[in-house]
Amino acid sequence: MPNFSLPDTVFEEAASRFPTPFHLYDARGIRQTVRDLNAAFSWNEGFKEYYAVKALPNPHILSLLIEEGCGLDCASEVELLLAQRVNCRDIMFSANAMPPHEFAMARAMGAIINLDDISDIETLRDNGGVGDTVCLRFNPGGTFGGDSDIIGSPGQSKYGMTAPQILEALKTLKALGVTGFGIHALLASNSSNREYYPNLAALLFQTGLEAEKETGVRLTFVNLSGGVGIPYRPEDKKVDIRAVAESVREKYVACFGTRSDIAIKAELGRYVTGPHGWLITRAMHLKQIHKTYLGVDACAADLLRPAMYGAYHHISVVGKRGKPDDTLYDVTGSLCENNDKFAIDRRLPKVDMGDILVIHDTGAHGFSMGYQYNGRLRSKEILLQDDGTLKMIRRAETPDDYFATLL
Ligand SMILES: *Cc1c(COP(=O)(O)O)cnc(C)c1O
Repeated sequence: MPNFSLPDTVFEEAASRFPTPFHLYDARGIRQTVRDLNAAFSWNEGFKEYYAVKALPNPHILSLLIEEGCGLDCASEVELLLAQRVNCRDIMFSANAMPPHEFAMARAMGAIINLDDISDIETLRDNGGVGDTVCLRFNPGGTFGGDSDIIGSPGQSKYGMTAPQILEALKTLKALGVTGFGIHALLASNSSNREYYPNLAALLFQTGLEAEKETGVRLTFVNLSGGVGIPYRPEDKKVDIRAVAESVREKYVACFGTRSDIAIKAELGRYVTGPHGWLITRAMHLKQIHKTYLGVDACAADLLRPAMYGAYHHISVVGKRGKPDDTLYDVTGSLCENNDKFAIDRRLPKVDMGDILVIHDTGAHGFSMGYQYNGRLRSKEILLQDDGTLKMIRRAETPDDYFATLL
């Protein structure tokens, strides 16, 4: 079993009340993860998690995160509108090849702007102004590693500025009235390496401190962004966030000594909600040709990660936990696209038609990566609320939604 789950009775009840397929999210699990994260970093007075909206852009979830003290990390006009709808006052706006009016909108909402490129300075100056504090996105190039392995390859990444550009940007920004800055980098995705955050922190602390010394603009925060992983496979280990936060603290002290005015910020998406979501689907077809294909009523339009990255998502069959995994299946959706498979050569207990299948860890980059290929429509979202009751927080799309944009 994966590290986080719910009793089968919850999945069964949900599937009896709401037609499959749908994503189900657990409010209590999400809250607990945020509380643990905030507790782990409580040594840093200014610590704040800005939840990455793109991971699960549903206002009900975003409101819950704000209640737990989170801000929001937005990267588009619609994500800003979502933040506005939930009255979010702490917004990080991560620019990347951004239309200029989105800078103006983010500035009007009081967002901290995370500049991706040196050319963004001019755009920001002319669209809302640079303000007094900005964040700068750093790209160190090359590869980024743990003690023994490569964690990410920033040299191949489109994001951020080089070290000399960071200095140049700060000098320009200072002349425009900026007095404080933060520094940001996201150098890995789904990293379970417990050295990732500490090593990134050490790099950003050092780079930020040098830039402060060189330019006289005060370093006010360091944004460690997202990228911390979750255990998708049953044998994967959960990242020990307390140990990670303690290692970040050691790097902080090593770099800043007794100075305590630098806030740590995070923009975790996957880590916060990923394990607390499930795609609930039903077995519809069994096809035996050269392999055995189990067709379900969800498809890659509901969860793209397996088709797009070959990502592993654990699958369990409701009512059959503990039964031997004695049957080999490719679990497929209905798209006319051969990569529409949730699992390839997966051992499961023997599945009967109508069985409820639970695809685990869909709480981040699940629904939100959905699309409408083949005219398949996006599914609904259900929330298991704090009081244990189920609530639909987004209806399924209808053909009318699909046709709504046609002229
Ligand atoms: C995607 C993204 C995140 C969140 O990434 P996770 O892997 O979900 O933690 C955070 N910040 C930025 C700028 C991003 O693009």
